[in-house]
Amino acid sequence: MTNSSEAPRTLAYWQRAAATLRIDTRPVIGGQRVEPLTTETFQSVHPHDGRVVATYPACGMAEIDLAVAAARKAFEAGCWSGLAPAERTRVMHRLGDLLRQHGDELALMDSLEMGMPIAQALGDIDESIDGLRALAELASQLTDLVLPSAPHALALNLRVPHGVVGAITPWNFPLYVALSKVAPALAMGNSLVLKPSELASLSCLRLAELALEAGLPPGVFNVVPGRGLPAGQALARHMDVDCLTFTGSTATGLQLLQDAGRSNLKVTLLECGGKSPQLVFDDLDDMDTLADTLVQGFAWNSGQVCVAGTRILVAQHLFDRLAEALAERVGTCLTGDPLDPTTTHGPLASRGQFERVTHLLAQAHKQGARVLARGQVASAAQGCHLGATLLADVASDHIVMQDEVFGPVAGLMPFADVDQALALANATRYGLFATVWTRDLPLAHRFARRLRAGSVVVNAVASPRTAHVRGSGAEPVGLSGYGIEGGAAGLRAYTRQRSVQFNLG
Ligand code: ADP
Repeated sequence: MTNSSEAPRTLAYWQRAAATLRIDTRPVIGGQRVEPLTTETFQSVHPHDGRVVATYPACGMAEIDLAVAAARKAFEAGCWSGLAPAERTRVMHRLGDLLRQHGDELALMDSLEMGMPIAQALGDIDESIDGLRALAELASQLTDLVLPSAPHALALNLRVPHGVVGAITPWNFPLYVALSKVAPALAMGNSLVLKPSELASLSCLRLAELALEAGLPPGVFNVVPGRGLPAGQALARHMDVDCLTFTGSTATGLQLLQDAGRSNLKVTLLECGGKSPQLVFDDLDDMDTLADTLVQGFAWNSGQVCVAGTRILVAQHLFDRLAEALAERVGTCLTGDPLDPTTTHGPLASRGQFERVTHLLAQAHKQGARVLARGQVASAAQGCHLGATLLADVASDHIVMQDEVFGPVAGLMPFADVDQALALANATRYGLFATVWTRDLPLAHRFARRLRAGSVVVNAVASPRTAHVRGSGAEPVGLSGYGIEGGAAGLRAYTRQRSVQFNLG
């Protein structure tokens, strides 16, 4: 399906497109769709109405083995790894063109499988393409080092690709997060095996087909659908995978680290959960605009965002005014049909996620939290819809202020002074992201240095887009994982440094 330029993109347009969407769930291995070896299947379900979107082969060790062998063969052949960086850049730009042409199809796949509102999914595709192009360009400009040496010697530091990269990705931004790994890994000359989330793999499988069409040699980029166990685990424990890159929960990240340790000591890049603060100081006065952005910071993509700003920490002096504005804003959040272009908040991605979030809300209630405001759920919704929820009377050690909820839920707390603000903001085992709202830039700068977070954004909404791919690189802290994503340093993470010394005698 290519984008239609004429038809107005109404709900009816997207419903028609969904009804005629070509669905192919077979793995892409060695440059083609292949029949899976397993006969076991699982299904993805549209969280808005519970309809089955796709039936997947539950691939496991056998398919992962084939994919890793194909990736290894392509890597050793040098058909991609041996190209000049500028040649790789050209292919990646062609992929960008194809992603643009097929943007509607890819956005629809993500929207159907995990319930992201279609308007947002389209924006995500645009962002993914921009990120891909930016990294492709940057990769062709990276330089190696010539080191100071005696006249009869030549010493170099080269960056060389790892080899075969295994990527395991989540469902919250299926294509976007996959590309934030696929793009730098490919740009630096690696081959790849991607195991997307079992909740939403269609767009990643399609990505592999489009990459072939763009001119990526067969075997360089393979996608195998399957569950975490056994497919993800097979990749993590594989003896011929050189680097494992992951975005997902901390529990899985910890497991992957053990798998890497029990197998071949593969390099690991782990971006796990977050419990990010949004700090608001008392020098601000436009409460309505502030409330809008703070709510967006935690409720965007139904809060299923690793950088969601779920701990809203507010200067005591502003607390009552801002709480009122926030409550009003949260009350107007309305979930709706993801395929309706006017929908801004979709359902949660799955029944399991819905149950997890409602369980955490029940625990919050038991610990004394009070619902200050709740958004509305579309009246016709049957699926996993949950209104945005703002909690008051929470304490820093409450479960809801410590655990990653991954739903549209935030807790609101006051702070008395700058020291308490910093202590509260850093009272987390995570360290992915933080936002600071103040006109006092020296204060913001001090906080940027002292906050426990991989990325700090001052006076802008929390967004993975500010954190990854196009901007400068960022590396998480604590249980949020490690490994730089984004920018030149993020590209280098997909390489090893090699020392080369010549005796020119
Ligand atoms: P979430 O709970 O948000 O789905 P997960 O960490 O469970 O986050 O999932 C993220 C990705 O990790 C998915 O692709 C999933 O299949 C994969 N995964 C889950 N468990 C494992 C595991 N034990 N080994 C390898 N991959 C796993």
